[in-house]
Amino acid sequence: MWETTKPGVYGEDRGRVQTGPARTADPGPGRATHGSPPASRPYHGAMTSLPSRQARERRVSERIGSIAESATLKVDAKAKALKAEGRPVIGFGAGEPDFPTPEYIVDAAVDACRDPKNHRYTPAGGLPELKKAIAEKTLRDSGLEVLPTQVLVTNGGKQAIYSAFAAMLDPGDEVIVPAPYWTTYPEAIRLAGGVPVEVLADETQDYKVTVEQLEAARSEKTKVLLFVSPSNPTGSVYTADEIRAIGEWVEDNGLWVLTDEIYEHLVYDGAETGSLPVLCPALRDYTVIVNGVAKTYAMTGWRVGWMIGPVDLVKAATNLQSHATSNVANVSQRAALAAVSGDLTAVDEMRAAFDRRRRTIVNMLNEIEGIVCPTPLGAFYAYPSVKGLLGRKHGGVQIDTSAQLAEYMLDKAEVAAVPGEAFGSPGYLRFSYALGDNDLVDGITRLQKLFA
Ligand code: PMP
Repeated sequence: MWETTKPGVYGEDRGRVQTGPARTADPGPGRATHGSPPASRPYHGAMTSLPSRQARERRVSERIGSIAESATLKVDAKAKALKAEGRPVIGFGAGEPDFPTPEYIVDAAVDACRDPKNHRYTPAGGLPELKKAIAEKTLRDSGLEVLPTQVLVTNGGKQAIYSAFAAMLDPGDEVIVPAPYWTTYPEAIRLAGGVPVEVLADETQDYKVTVEQLEAARSEKTKVLLFVSPSNPTGSVYTADEIRAIGEWVEDNGLWVLTDEIYEHLVYDGAETGSLPVLCPALRDYTVIVNGVAKTYAMTGWRVGWMIGPVDLVKAATNLQSHATSNVANVSQRAALAAVSGDLTAVDEMRAAFDRRRRTIVNMLNEIEGIVCPTPLGAFYAYPSVKGLLGRKHGGVQIDTSAQLAEYMLDKAEVAAVPGEAFGSPGYLRFSYALGDNDLVDGITRLQKLFA
């Protein structure tokens, strides 16, 4: 059983998770108190320790002000806005299946809407039935035995990532992030006070990092390795041997790992995904898994994901969620319950369509001189190098970066793709092929003409 039960350290009975010295009765001058102020410092109304001008000049906090807008959502929003203006934009930007959510899942949500018990608050960490079903699904799909108490149901995989890092990191803790990385990871790490340390793997190594590269990036401050396979944005899938080697390195160095399994069911050409704590059982007490229903069941808009980890960590993240958002919308949780309790027929059908589109897009992109597109084995992204198109003029316009190239493509061919700058690797473009076959062919044909 994947549960750490060391008494006094990990047990569920601890209630509050303590991470530092206990709070003293009087926190000292200038520090906020909780509850009544001490008698020696009577309360005189609003805090006046900072001149109000200075307080007002500091409009947005440094922490939040430094967050970049999600580049993938930005490209998608721009493409959708142009489309709404009536321009025939073809969007390769969004990381979401174009299929509707399967009928039986929608039916479960409709039923849930009519049941008043779903109109109320429910436990912050998730419906007990859903946590149990997620534990069962994890055993079915990954071969990993977990308890419902190790599951936290979140508002999408995104919140699971944020909460996991918030629960794991202290200021200055380093997280090794293989690049090209999904654009949210470094921001979630920084928000939690951590420091992302990037390790770049390019197309010559199939965008997969090696143990040697990880070792070179490790320092005394390293706490966590972020791992994702199949990967967004590259579509790369690590083999079982590669995962074992990385897992051994994590274990040898006493690190934690956050493994994002959200694309677990989207693999092609006979590739297999292996779950890290199953391939490396020694890591079970030091692994956090992130997953969700968005990609497997075409449920991006329903916002249901989860994290799985050691009980104390999940408890800490649940405490955070109890103050931040409370329970995920019950109707969405009921829909997710139908999804994870059902079989995988719907995803099998979607996978067949993605596979067909994958082969088409890779072939068509490789026909463009200056573009090199490795064949991805997972997810629904193609991640070609466009370095061969940079540093020269196209249609009279000098294009030096992949960001400029993406803008040029949107302006001149009305084709939206996300530049590699968003993923920590300039010189590339990410194309999501989760769009209709005809649009896909039309869009890449436009690019073939644009760069002919
Ligand atoms: N992980 C990865 C690698 C993703 O690509 C995404 C979505 N783009 C997520 C997690 C989060 O998905 P969601 O919040 O929609 O569940």
